[in-house]
Amino acid sequence: MIKVKKRKFLLLPGDGVGPEVVGEVKKIIEWFNSNKSLDFEIEEGLAGGASYDKYGTPITDEVFYKALESEAVILGAVGGPKWDNLEFSKKPERALLKLRKELKLFANLRPAICFKQLVDASTLKPEIVSGLDIMIVRELTGGIYFGEPRGIEPIDNGERKGINTHTYTSSEIIRVARVAFDLAKKRLNKVTSCEKSNVMEAGQLWKEEVQSLHEKEYKDVELNHMLADNCAMQLLRNPKQFDVIVTDNLFGDILSDQASMLTGSLGLLPSASLGAKNKDGKMRAMYEPIHGSAPDIAGKGIANPIATILSFAMALRFSLNLDKEADVLEKAVQEVLNDGLRTKDIASKGSKEVSTTQMGDAIISKLK
Ligand code: NAD
Repeated sequence: MIKVKKRKFLLLPGDGVGPEVVGEVKKIIEWFNSNKSLDFEIEEGLAGGASYDKYGTPITDEVFYKALESEAVILGAVGGPKWDNLEFSKKPERALLKLRKELKLFANLRPAICFKQLVDASTLKPEIVSGLDIMIVRELTGGIYFGEPRGIEPIDNGERKGINTHTYTSSEIIRVARVAFDLAKKRLNKVTSCEKSNVMEAGQLWKEEVQSLHEKEYKDVELNHMLADNCAMQLLRNPKQFDVIVTDNLFGDILSDQASMLTGSLGLLPSASLGAKNKDGKMRAMYEPIHGSAPDIAGKGIANPIATILSFAMALRFSLNLDKEADVLEKAVQEVLNDGLRTKDIASKGSKEVSTTQMGDAIISKLK
């Protein structure tokens, strides 16, 4: 067997169900190493509450530098009630924010796909969601979550004031819009750009920059502008009108959660956070399920590993250009669902309920 160059993955299982679902990805990486002409190197590290408990910080410099050196980071989830009362800088979520910010992961890709086998899991009517396939591109390193000034400060009369600042520059808007247009070209060729240009100057700039990029470089892609509140409504009314949605950090946070619930289960949906490509065409990237650490089911062996496994498929596709392997893995997931295997969160009458590890094993058996 001819071996190609080693590709390094950093696994950060994190907290709660994180280690359980990332454990299944590790099995799949090992399967690819043993059965295909691939040679993935796996490193692991602590992040979030697990890192705080051991080192007093949500991410150590050592783990952070490993992330810088790896081809892609696969993260489980961070956080949980145990760490809710820590001061802001020590909270598990700081690990995520630091990785996104320092690795300059400015584009967050969140597909909302409604698997036909699970159409009944959605709260919407089957005809509204069946066959749904939307890609939400959320700007991830700018906007109100990072803008300065920020803080809570005392004001008159014993009151306090909470401050956050929403800012975007032209280049921040253009680089994420470009990701959306490029993705659309490989899909249905349609981009909807969402902002609040009616009430926010930063929204007005967003709309103008996206429009101008479209006119200069992407005239062949269909572009619509939509106010973010209307987009929230349209996602419920007629979600299949969308192909790629591009929006800022705050609206993207909300709209992508809403879109994910159209599909019925948090346990199924992956995400990718991508940085800029360097001269060699390489980019930094982090892949993670959209769900959190699910403390209510952690340790019970019932978490659904599919979202994390599909996140790994996105890593194969976007970071390593291994489209064929990504297709094979996604098809294996579909086949297991066709066989009626379900973890508890997506179980229905007549399905076979399986544990986290049994689901991982079933997917591997389909790879064979
Ligand atoms: P959550 O996504 O952890 O859980 C919401 C519900 O979905 C729970 O009932 C949970 O059991 C279920 N669920 C989630 N993932 C599942 C899976 N893989 N299989 C089956 N069921 C699953 O959201 P939450 O309860 O709001 O947050 C819990 C903790 O996770 C909090 O500390 C929060 O800050 C953190 N969080 C982390 C991330 C992240 O690391 N990216 C994202 C969201 C929330």
